[in-house]
Amino acid sequence: MIEFQHVFKSYGRSRNILADINFRIEAGEFVFVSGPSGAGKSTLLKLIGGLEPPSRGSITVNKNRIDKMPGRARPYLRRAVGVILQDTHLLFDRSAFENVLLPLTVVGLERSQAITRARAALDKVGLAGKEDLNPVEMSGGEQQRLAIARAIVNRPAILIADEPTANLDHESARRIMDVFRDFNRVGVTTLIASHDTSLMATYASRTLQILPGRFTDLRGVQA
Ligand code: ADP
Ligand code: ADP
Repeated sequence: MIEFQHVFKSYGRSRNILADINFRIEAGEFVFVSGPSGAGKSTLLKLIGGLEPPSRGSITVNKNRIDKMPGRARPYLRRAVGVILQDTHLLFDRSAFENVLLPLTVVGLERSQAITRARAALDKVGLAGKEDLNPVEMSGGEQQRLAIARAIVNRPAILIADEPTANLDHESARRIMDVFRDFNRVGVTTLIASHDTSLMATYASRTLQILPGRFTDLRGVQA
């Protein structure tokens, strides 16, 4: 589903943030990306989501060589990979419902079908009944669940999230993780970067640990 071969990443002329990274993730895995702040967790997720190009090496996502993918092919990748970044990029001048509807409008889905799917996505993250709220009227946990609904509304095969439980109390964080677990259980390959190793330990079965200058693939072991 996801394969990195000898991947290097630096920004501009800076040092390598990631150097010679190799791993393979099978469909349906739930993977935790761990490591201290600044280690390169977000960078790894952005490479998978096609939001940053690698400096060297090959990256295969959903059978596509994304290091060779021209910019115009990126929208296909966006449909295959649901991305939830630290800044949720929710639109605060629109309702929760319209935030979730937008990705479907972008891919040209017929309107009545889009409305049905957007409702289903909000329902899956436990936000049914909050469609008309503006995101500013929602709690941090609700905003995070709204960002998840928007990321999964196109039914991606892969879901990646960067620190989705940051700034949330323990109960809200668990609810967020339960939402990811539910998607993973129906087959969505899930990668989550987080500082919260104890929370992740109860959900993920594999850890990609990024430490400055060292990358470790831990299967069935917690970082
Ligand atoms: P983490 O998610 O583990 O905190 P990041 O992937 O965000 O780590 O950052 C890894 C390193 O790359 C940091 O030193 C950060 O400053 C640097 N970095 C991240 N994004 C950029 C960018 N767009 N331009 C230059 N440097 C960047
Ligand atoms: P649907 O019927 O759900 O709209 P498709 O049959 O078009 O989906 O595609 C199935 C999956 O493959 C979707 O997750 C879609 O995002 C993804 N996909 C379709 N075409 C491409 C492509 N050229 N590159 C990458 N992913 C693609």
